Amino acid sequence: MNRTNILIVEDELLIAKNTAKKLEKLGYAVCKIVSSGEAAIQYVNQKQPDLILMDIAIKGDIDGIETASRIKSTVDIPIIFLTAYANDETLDRASEVGCYGYLIKPFRDRELQATIKMALSRYREDSVVKEALQSTLHEYSAGYDDIYKDNLTNLPNKLFLRDLFDYLLSLSTGSNAASSNTNSVIGSEPTQDLQQSESKLIAVFNISLDRFKRASSFLNKEQQDTLVKEIARRLTDCVTGFQVPGSTVYLESDNFVILLTPEKQAIANQYGQSILSNLQKSFIIDEQEIYLSPSIGISFYPSDGTSIEQLLQQSQKAIEYAQSQGGNRCQKFTFAFNIKPYKASDDLRLESGLHHALEREEFELYYQPKVDLQTNSIVGAEALVRWNHPEMGRIEPDKFIPLAEESGLIGSIGEWVLDCACRQTKAWHDIGLDGLKISVNLSGTQFRQSDLFHKMTRILFNSSLEAQYLELEMTETILVENIKANVQRLNLLKKLGVQIALDDFGTGYSSLGYLQQFPFDILKIDSCFIRNVDRNQVNAVITKNTISMAHELGLQVVAEGVETAGELNFLKDAQCDVIQGFIFSRPLEVKEFQKLMMSEAKLFGNY
Ligand code: C2E
Ligand code: MG
Ligand code: MG
Repeated sequence: MNRTNILIVEDELLIAKNTAKKLEKLGYAVCKIVSSGEAAIQYVNQKQPDLILMDIAIKGDIDGIETASRIKSTVDIPIIFLTAYANDETLDRASEVGCYGYLIKPFRDRELQATIKMALSRYREDSVVKEALQSTLHEYSAGYDDIYKDNLTNLPNKLFLRDLFDYLLSLSTGSNAASSNTNSVIGSEPTQDLQQSESKLIAVFNISLDRFKRASSFLNKEQQDTLVKEIARRLTDCVTGFQVPGSTVYLESDNFVILLTPEKQAIANQYGQSILSNLQKSFIIDEQEIYLSPSIGISFYPSDGTSIEQLLQQSQKAIEYAQSQGGNRCQKFTFAFNIKPYKASDDLRLESGLHHALEREEFELYYQPKVDLQTNSIVGAEALVRWNHPEMGRIEPDKFIPLAEESGLIGSIGEWVLDCACRQTKAWHDIGLDGLKISVNLSGTQFRQSDLFHKMTRILFNSSLEAQYLELEMTETILVENIKANVQRLNLLKKLGVQIALDDFGTGYSSLGYLQQFPFDILKIDSCFIRNVDRNQVNAVITKNTISMAHELGLQVVAEGVETAGELNFLKDAQCDVIQGFIFSRPLEVKEFQKLMMSEAKLFGNY
């Protein structure tokens, strides 16, 4: 078998030689040792090693990170950074470049070997993802897969929106779609050349039918379906008439999205007017005349945002503005919509209380059991924070976590949650409930904090909880903004031994094939798909497919929000691994949870 060829970039000759010796001993081939960034770039231009070990602090004009970034701009080689000490700023810079691992000097043979193995396998996985995306896009042109299609309208559904966006991006930039996935095209900063050319514009038309719900209440189910199909038909006809690549996606009852790639914003505005006038005409359903009052919000890639999530949010703001002006109009997004003229007084009151809530010990963690469907026993719990407000009573996280994010307090609150959950779990282990796992939710701001890794290390150390019992739950919207850097961050966290769960799967706009590039261990299917899964055909197809795809990818599947025996039985049949939901238990206070754990082991057999 061919040995892996490794290039060492290291200016301290003794370390370089020592590392080379270790590598040879481990069965790798060292093809070259160079001592500067320039020499490394020159070498890579002539020969391509399979892997590069790159010292960060090398002498010369460019450091290791800059060298890596220049190499990456021409060839795709996995790079592992070596560094004597790692501060956050350096690690963040290295993450931005997209490296495949770090080694802190001095390192042992085993660390070296493990890091190389991980880097090579991640690199291979990344290549597979690229191929997977290619084939998804191929399916797109051939007719999309069932789970990406809305059965009623035959339009792609929201799970396919991201792929569609990537696809249009690849058409309009002329690059291949797979590489748009891994380069910074979808990342937070649009590259210069993307902003310059007018032909590389994507317009997102977010269409809301303001009177749809009211109109539907006068129709029976069949008539409602006919109405939705008729709206879909009018929209598809419009798009076909436009002569620019584009497509219509059905999000939910009264919400459609059209993606187009017009040459100029002015042309897009004309299209918007044309969609509007088509939808303003009455719909005749069984001789009843129905008017829907559409509001259309438009946002543009790249000027208003570079990810589909951002663009949808911006177009939604434009819709809200259009509605505030009486609806029945088409409105382009402007950044002025982001300036909030006022804050609701309740929010202000909550926010000021939030500043003191930690010191006044007003937060409390509740624990919701997770049940393994094979053994019917509790295998873990999700920690869910509550705020016991002195005047307003108990406040749910959905109300105050967003405020905590906005005001910057999420850092300290999140740290308290992690610390409290880890200590509590360790205490439970100590009284014999060993093996219990704890999941903690991480918000976007928390995940992006540069000292997260250090905080996690400290919290685990202080609580003495073994890292394997801690799961961190994150939603996809947190991760898709700056993919490469986030993959690095997750890998760093995983190095501690913690597990990563993808929370609320299905509520964002990414497909599983796309999300596969993140190193998850667990996938949590959002409760909106579990709702009536035994009776709702669409939910059933999505849930079954998600479970089997997740299993193929080696992920454990947790179903959230299971409330009925019908849903539970469906999930058992579909081989779901773990469930969480009111059918078994609501989130419980510490004492209640402990009582439940102590008293029951196999209650679940009854179902
Ligand atoms: P999540 O992580 O998806 O948590 C699951 C939510 O579903 C919880 O709501 C839980 O009480 C609820 N739930 C569980 N089973 C059922 C069921 O059978 N039916 C229904 N209808 N609901 C069920 P909760 O506690 O209100 O939390 C809401 C969200 O707030 C969480 O969603 C999570 O995103 C966030 N959150 C909670 N605690 C924290 C925290 O400590 N830090 C951060 N950053 N976010 C948190
Ligand atoms: Mg969660
Ligand atoms: Mg969830």
